[in-house]
Amino acid sequence: MSSLDSVQLKPSQRQPLLKSRAQRSHSLEASTTKSHPRDDALKGTENASLYFVGTATTILEWEGIRLMTDPNFLHAGDQVHLGPGVTAERRTNPALELDELPSLDGILLSHYHEDHFDRDVEDALDRNFLIVTTPHARQCLTAKDESFCNVHALDFFQSLLLVGDRADKNETRPVIKVTGMPGKHIPSGFLSAANDLLGAVPPTNGWMLELGHGKGQQQGSNAEPGVGYRIYISGDTLFVDDLKRIPEWLNGEKIDLMLIHLGGTSIPSASAPLVMVTMDAVQGLKMMRLMDPDVTVPIHFDDYSVFASPLNDFKKEVQGAGMEGRVVYLDRGEKYAFTVRDCAAGAR
Ligand SMILES: [Zn+2]
Repeated sequence: MSSLDSVQLKPSQRQPLLKSRAQRSHSLEASTTKSHPRDDALKGTENASLYFVGTATTILEWEGIRLMTDPNFLHAGDQVHLGPGVTAERRTNPALELDELPSLDGILLSHYHEDHFDRDVEDALDRNFLIVTTPHARQCLTAKDESFCNVHALDFFQSLLLVGDRADKNETRPVIKVTGMPGKHIPSGFLSAANDLLGAVPPTNGWMLELGHGKGQQQGSNAEPGVGYRIYISGDTLFVDDLKRIPEWLNGEKIDLMLIHLGGTSIPSASAPLVMVTMDAVQGLKMMRLMDPDVTVPIHFDDYSVFASPLNDFKKEVQGAGMEGRVVYLDRGEKYAFTVRDCAAGAR
């Protein structure tokens, strides 16, 4: 049993997400809710969901806790600046607008890039809103004139407990253990060295989210919760050797749900690709084989002009490997509902 840093969430009394505080307290209505692709026995037992907004923006809901990943609410035709001489145009619209979001408890930001944290989002966010991110992004967000005041940085394999406030009759509370996972947005070698100088492509995290219940979390014991469901989010990474450290870290434990950032993002542009900085379809399938999750949901595949590997390429790869039953495809505005198992604290 180890002691970890923790943040107490207050879903019943949330911090406003936006400075304007123009937020309504409502639930997130999906156009379609999908369930487990193979196990019909799970139908009707779902107690958590993942809503796809667009790009890498998703909203996780479980036990009254709501977390958003990589907020990007730009529209088709909007431009983002991704580094010296590299811009991209958004091709799609988000499923909902920033001011239509329900209240939230925190943001997980994989890296500080405009297609994951756009300028409008940055301007609009309340400075006290909770953000968990990389050390690099924390530095950027806290060094501004109007700096963010509630930013937690996690390096690879560092963890933070996010503790909910809904205690059950056994006095256990929902806890999400967030752990930074390795990711590499740019290939090693010369390009990586050049990038270190230019600072064009920021360092990036993946995330492991372990959902479970823990006892005494409010009393500062910070004991690790049991794990009733495990979600791995790749972040903007290539399929690199460093990722092999993740199954090692898991030590035989299984991933229930994997969100992979695909798109085969190519810079300076998809029509004149010099270097690929996120996984394409082939690498996505390799990732499925390496991580062996129960279910995979691809995200980040068609929203920007720099994305060169469309979702159909990935579908073909998955089909060719006979792994269709392992993937759930979400359109923007759709939800995947899943079942977090009941489990005792202390079990891993
Ligand atoms: Zn990206």
